[in-house]
Amino acid sequence: MLRRAGYDDVTVFERHERVGGVWHANTYPGAACDVPSHLYEFSFAPNPRWSRRYAPQAEIQAYLEDVARRYRADVRTGTDVTAARWDGARWHLQTSAGEHEADVLITACGQLSMPSVPAIPGLGDFAGPAFHTARWRHDVDLTGRRVAVVGTGCSAIQVVPAIQPAVAQLDVYQRSPGWTIPKLDFAYKERTLRLFERFPVLQRLDRAVIDGVLEVGTAGMTKQHWLLPPFRALARSQINRAIKDPELRRKVTPRDEIACKRLMLTDDWYPTLTKPNVELVTDRIAEVHGGGIRTADGTDRAADVLVLATGFATHGFVAPMEIAREDGRTLAEAWGDVPRAYLGITVPEFPNLFLLYGPNTNGGSGSVVDTLESAMQHVLAALAELEAADARRIEVRRDAAEAFDRSLRAALAGTVWHSGCTNWYVDANGNDPSQWPWLWREYRRRTARIEPGTYELSSADEQGGAHAERDDPERAPDARRMT
Ligand SMILES: Cc1cc2nc3c(=O)[nH]c(=O)nc-3n(C[C@H](O)[C@H](O)[C@H](O)COP(=O)(O)OP(=O)(O)OC[C@H]3O[C@@H](n4cnc5c(N)ncnc54)[C@H](O)[C@@H]3O)c2cc1C
Repeated sequence: MLRRAGYDDVTVFERHERVGGVWHANTYPGAACDVPSHLYEFSFAPNPRWSRRYAPQAEIQAYLEDVARRYRADVRTGTDVTAARWDGARWHLQTSAGEHEADVLITACGQLSMPSVPAIPGLGDFAGPAFHTARWRHDVDLTGRRVAVVGTGCSAIQVVPAIQPAVAQLDVYQRSPGWTIPKLDFAYKERTLRLFERFPVLQRLDRAVIDGVLEVGTAGMTKQHWLLPPFRALARSQINRAIKDPELRRKVTPRDEIACKRLMLTDDWYPTLTKPNVELVTDRIAEVHGGGIRTADGTDRAADVLVLATGFATHGFVAPMEIAREDGRTLAEAWGDVPRAYLGITVPEFPNLFLLYGPNTNGGSGSVVDTLESAMQHVLAALAELEAADARRIEVRRDAAEAFDRSLRAALAGTVWHSGCTNWYVDANGNDPSQWPWLWREYRRRTARIEPGTYELSSADEQGGAHAERDDPERAPDARRMT
């Protein structure tokens, strides 16, 4: 989007060897989108040829690489940014490949890019291959092996059905179940793809319909809780249709409110759990040992391969990268217990810094790609303000950020995510640095422009002024450096 807006000096740092983010990292069997692909794509780069309603990982990865190529992004892969410091005029980055300077720093670190490995006693003693779903070992052949999968969240419900036919025994360790609803995935027929190609308006229409349907879900989760019972009925009927064994039904049926934990979409999770080579284990894991897993009831189950479908460390945002303002105070210190940012994007006293997929920009429904586009729209609006005022630095006003945060926290309290379950959004102290508590329509509306009085602009050597002196008349706006 920076390229499209005419910014030429844009450098992207990526610690992995390829772009793609989670779609480069998560190559486990069955990995796929759980938002229909016509909404999980950039509005400015529609792909009429997704093979399925919900594209598989490899297609999304290829799409993202193609977009990066098309916009000639200058991506420094294999480069980890470890620290960034604002010196009053520019950002100074420490990277694994040396130093870099930029006028503007945009973080796009993802909320789900750091795998979380639980502290299970003895995990390191396991004799066979043990790996996280986001670090899938494609060199390990699972055919005829006894496989233990720890976790029953979004990754597990995709990987378990995908590997079940090949393995000898599959033990799935569940801490607490989550609600699911049918995904209703299907492959597009060639003639449908040709129609999308020929009449792009059809794809845009489909995108709008998907968005509308997902907004109904968001309304139910945020404020209109009367919308939830039909989803609960659908979820129960999905369990009851697939599972006849009352004991297994009991094990997979959550006791908490639907969508309090992430609501999962699947067509094959419950049927897979009924297969003769699959056991759903609900006893707490006591320890892992060289040959398998022992649960708290004393049962020992042998395993050749251990798969951790245990999710991600979600509340670090930019961590472990250390971002510091001029006086040395870091973003982590400024945040304290709860990361917070105005519209999830800007933080008082951290000038020219913009966070993508920052605090409170996640949802229980909707497409993160769409959210990222809205956030970038806001970044572009802020940069346009800089240009228009001929200023060099922009930062959100503390009073504006605090007023936003107060209304956000008040709205969060009434959402389903705070109805008493454990989920990855809310921390052990009840703080929620993850969720957006309103409709996505509202996020789009608020990010589309800069609300008068919310930002301060100044020249590099002048702080807090409403208007900037031109501090470097020779410097053309398009020569500004973005990272
Ligand atoms: C398996 C899986 C499936 C998902 N499915 C969906 C879905 O169907 N729909 C949906 O809306 N969302 C989904 N998500 C959420 C997903 O996180 C977002 O959709 C989207 O990928 C976020 O994009 P991003 O670019 O912000 O972050 P990411 O895709 O996480 O990319 C961040 C990148 O930044 C790099 N990075 C981080 N820190 C540094 C650093 N200091 N230096 C250098 N590089 C760094 C990381 O290596 C990573 O490549 C899914 C997540 C996972 C894990």
